[in-house]
Amino acid sequence: MTSLADKTVVLTGGAGGLGRCVTAVLAAHDARVVVTDVIEPVDELPPGAEFHRLDVTSPQEWGVLARTLQDRHGPVHGLVNNAGILRSRGQSGRLQHVSLEDWNALLAVNATGPMLGIQALAPLMTEGGSIVNIGSVAGAGAHLAAGYGVSKWALRGLSRIASMELGSAGIRVNSIMPGYIETPMQTRTPEHFIDAWVSIVPMGRVGTPDDVAPLVSFLLSDESAWLSGADIPVDGGTLAHVGLKVISDAMGAEDGGA
Ligand code: NAD
Repeated sequence: MTSLADKTVVLTGGAGGLGRCVTAVLAAHDARVVVTDVIEPVDELPPGAEFHRLDVTSPQEWGVLARTLQDRHGPVHGLVNNAGILRSRGQSGRLQHVSLEDWNALLAVNATGPMLGIQALAPLMTEGGSIVNIGSVAGAGAHLAAGYGVSKWALRGLSRIASMELGSAGIRVNSIMPGYIETPMQTRTPEHFIDAWVSIVPMGRVGTPDDVAPLVSFLLSDESAWLSGADIPVDGGTLAHVGLKVISDAMGAEDGGA
C-alpha cells in the first residue's frame, strides 16, 4: 500500500480538474498536500491539505512559497508540476495561426513554470524526494495545438535534465504523458475532435483524472525508488501504435495485411 505519511508535497494548478483528483489521492495516502494555483479551489480541501496562491510563472512567488514551507514544514518531499494552459480555440492553436502572445504564455506556464518550481524547491528536498511533471501525449509527437505541443516537449526535456542533475542528491524526476482526459481544460473541445480522438485510443474511450492520479501518487512514493528520468504515457494505448490503429481497424482483426 502506497504511503506518503508525513511527506509534504507541493502541487501546482491544484484547483483544476486533474489537480483536485491528485490532491484527493495524495491526501488519502496521508501526504501533507500544499495545493497551489492562481485561483481558489472550488471544493473544500481534504484534511491535511492547505492552499497557497501561486502563479508558476513568477520567480518571486516561488521564492515566497519556498521560504514559507521552510519555516512551517521543513523539508519538501515532492513537487507535482501540474499547472497548465491550452489556449487553443478553433484554428488559433495551429502553427500558422498561433499568436506570439499565446505562444509565449504557453511556454511560460507549461515549461518555464516547472523550471522555476524545480529551482525554488529542489534545495528544500532531501534524499528520497520526487518531482513529477505533468506532460502530455502532445509532447511525444506532432500535435494540433502547436504552442501547447512545443511546451510539453520542452517539459519532457526539462524532466530528463533535472533527473540527471538531481539524481546525485537522491531526488527522482519523472514525467507522465496523459492522453485526453475530461477536465475543465477540455470544456470547449468540439465533439468531432473527441470522437476522432477516441478512434485512435485502443481502449476506446477518453481518460478521467482518476485514470491518472494514482500514477502520480506511485511516482511520489518510495515504491518507485529506482524510477527516474522516465516519460510514462497514461493514454489507453494511444502512443503505442504510432498511427497504425487506423490501418488495423481498416484491415479487420483477421487480415494481417502485407
Ligand atoms: P485545468 O484547466 O482543469 O487545470 C489547470 C489548472 O492550472 C487550473 O486550475 C489553472 O488555474 C491552473 N493554472 C493556469 N495557469 C496557472 C499559473 N500561471 N500558475 C498557477 N496555476 C495556473 O486542466 P487539467 O486538465 O487539470 O490540466 C492539468 C495538467 O494536465 C496540465 O498540465 C495539462 O496540460 C495536463 N494535461 C491535460 C490533459 C487533458 O486532456 N485535460 C491531457 C494531457 C495533459
